[in-house]
This record gives sequence, structure tokens and C-alpha cells, in this order.
Amino acid sequence: MLKKQDPIIYDAIQKELERQQNTIELIPSENYVSPAVLEALGSILTNKYAEGYPSNRYYGGTANVDIVEQTAIDRAKKLFNAEHANVQPLSGAQANIAAYFALLKQGETILGMDLSHGGHLTHGHPVTKIAKIFNFIRYKTLPTGEIDYAQLRKMALEHKPRLILVGFSAYSRSINYKKIKEIADKVNAYTMADIAHIAGLIAAGVLENPVPLFDAVTSTTHKTLRGPRGGVILCKKQFAAQIDKSVFPGLQGGPHEHNIAAKAVAFREALQPEFKQYAEQILKNAKALENVLKQNGFTIAFGTTENHLLLIDLRNPPAGPLRRSFSEASEAGKNISGLEAQTALEDVNIVCNKNMIPDDPRQPLDPSGIRLGTPAMTTRGFKEQEFILVGKMISDCLTSPKDPQVKQQILEQVKNLTKKFPLPY
Ligand SMILES: *Cc1c(COP(=O)(O)O)cnc(C)c1O
Repeated sequence: MLKKQDPIIYDAIQKELERQQNTIELIPSENYVSPAVLEALGSILTNKYAEGYPSNRYYGGTANVDIVEQTAIDRAKKLFNAEHANVQPLSGAQANIAAYFALLKQGETILGMDLSHGGHLTHGHPVTKIAKIFNFIRYKTLPTGEIDYAQLRKMALEHKPRLILVGFSAYSRSINYKKIKEIADKVNAYTMADIAHIAGLIAAGVLENPVPLFDAVTSTTHKTLRGPRGGVILCKKQFAAQIDKSVFPGLQGGPHEHNIAAKAVAFREALQPEFKQYAEQILKNAKALENVLKQNGFTIAFGTTENHLLLIDLRNPPAGPLRRSFSEASEAGKNISGLEAQTALEDVNIVCNKNMIPDDPRQPLDPSGIRLGTPAMTTRGFKEQEFILVGKMISDCLTSPKDPQVKQQILEQVKNLTKKFPLPY
């Protein structure tokens, strides 16, 4: 139908499907949803208005969407062992903003993680509007890669924040939630974890779950959790009414029930035993990728990975011929930049993103690192063996970014691998 009625959009979708089929996807925040999730997302539920919450709506005709939303809520609670869940946030950013407004008054202080040390824009980066409403201050990581808990404690005691926030989009180490909670209790601050990146790993039980310990936990549903694009908030019962009011009517209008249906389907999938195997494989694959890259002389920011992602610090290219070709690759006569690395990899159909490294001396649009993750290709069936090949291809590509023969060889390998592990669409 779409093909005939709107060929521009149809063709763009077809081309995007081809692109997804034919590339190795290493952006750690991306994944491939199941056909069942896609079916729910594309359903007629998009036609329905349902402002309010199940059994308490401002519209008639909501019996069916009530089932949908209540099922999503029940599954989210079960998945994360949560006392309360709100499945309406349209995305991760909205979930965070809603949580801040639920817990804090305008002008109050939030202590969160520095963006260049792995934090997220929505954690108070000066370019965001939310940074004008709350007073964000930031802790950092140590050169060894751990969060600087001593600095965090010192800042908490000095500034008495109302909220201590943990969570990241480019940090590869574990978080000591207990330690954060102890510090927060000392200064009478709320605790919030933004688990957008690692929600699937937490749901599967392969990473520690902050939900039973923290006051509020926000997440996206489309990263490791492998659901539709959206957000979710989990919290203690005592904050349930505040959180719900903050999402609707505080910030949003009618909930996207087609999207909530797709979230429910994804939550059910994440409750199955196979999802635990998936999450375990994500971690094994990240380790395999780390090992190859280290063997080839690359520097991993934060020292190592304990989750699904790796940040490569390109300031320190491997010694020998690699160092020389990095220099050749850069116009500034220095090492290859994150943007140059991202572009060189995209030329061989390996997709990743440039990223800031801690206290990056370069600019955000051309930073010193690239970020790699294993969730998407693990969904397609990649195991350690395939990720060892991926690591070698990345190494070869960045070592000889201008060698047409190397480029041809990698393109051929990517073609074979993506053909062998197709998408189910
Ligand atoms: C991705 C992400 C978000 C934002 O999610 P959107 O759905 O893009 O709004 C928020 N916090 C963290 C830590 C993230 O990684």
C-alpha cells in the first residue's frame, strides 16, 4: 500500500532496511527489535487517545488500551523488581526530565556524572534547557577508570545536592550503587539511576540492579532492552503519585499506546530465559572485542569494559607503523580523530560513533574517541569468534585508512558476515 501511495517514504524505508542488513552495527545504543515488537508498534493502537492512566482516563473507549498499558506496567515491575512503573515517557530524555520535576523544586542541585566522563546530555549539559531549571554539578572518573567516589562524597558534603544521579552513555565500568546510596543518605539526597544503556543487562541479571536500592530509576526501552523507542520510570511506591503526575499531565499529553504495547512485548521477551543468554553473550562479545583491540595496541578508555560498550581513546595510537599512518590520516598532523575514525569505518560498512573521552582536549563534533558496542550484532547471532574478526577489521581499517586494497578486503568480509547473520525482517 505504502509503495503505491508514497514511493518517496517507501523507498527510503527499503534503503534503510538494506543499510541495516548490510552493515555491522556497533553503536552501543542501537539494537534490532523482534518482528513481534514491530507488529505491536505498527498497530492500530496508534489511533487511540487515552490521557490518564489505566482505569482512570479522560477519554472513553479505553478498555483495550487499559489492558495493554496495565500489562506493560506489570511486566516492567516484574522485570526490574520495582514497586511502581510508569511506561508512558516518550523517550529517555522525557523520563529523566519527568523524574527531576517529580523529585525536585526549581533551582535545586543535582550531582551527576560529567558528560565527557561518560554521562548524558540530559544530566545537565549546559546546552540543554533543563540545565537552566536545576543546578547541575558534576563528578568525574579516576585515571584508572572507576568513578571518583572520594570526589563525589566531597562534592555531596560541600554542595548538599537534593539528588545524586548515576548513569551513563559512554562509560564501560560498573557502578557501586551501595556506596552512592550511603553518600546520599548522609546528605539527605534522593538517589536516581539512569540505566538507559544497560537496562537489558540489568533485566537479565548480568549487571547489578539499582531498582531495589534507589528512589527512582529511569531508562530507555530501545537500547540493550531491545524494545521500541521509548522511556520508562521505575520508583518506590512513595514516589509513585509524584512520578505519574509529573509525566502526565506535567509534561506529556496522550500516551502512545501502540508504543506501550510494543514495550509490553519487549518486556515479555526480556523475561524469557533466552534473554539472559543474550545478555551474557553481549558481555562475552565486548570482552572479545576489547582483547583484540588491546592486542593490536589500542587504548581503552576507563581501562576495560564491564558492560556492553568500549570507548577507544585515539590519542594514544599503537606504536610502530600504525602511529605513522594515524599521523598521515590527520590533517592536523596529529593522531586520527574520532570523526576520521568514524568516517573510515563507515566507508567499510562498520557503523560506530565518535565520542568524547574524559576531559577531551578536542571539540564534541570532532572528539578523540570512538564508542563501540556489542548489543546489536549479538542480536544477529555474533559470538566471540565474529567479534574477533570485527576487532581485526577495525584495527586494519584504522591502521591503513587510505589503502584501497585493505578497504576492499574489509568490505568483502563485512558482506560475508552480514549475509551469514541476516535480520529477521
Ligand atoms: C540514550 C540515553 C538517554 C536519552 O534517551 P532518548 O530516548 O534518546 O531521549 C538518556 N540517558 C542516557 C544515559 C542515555 O544513554
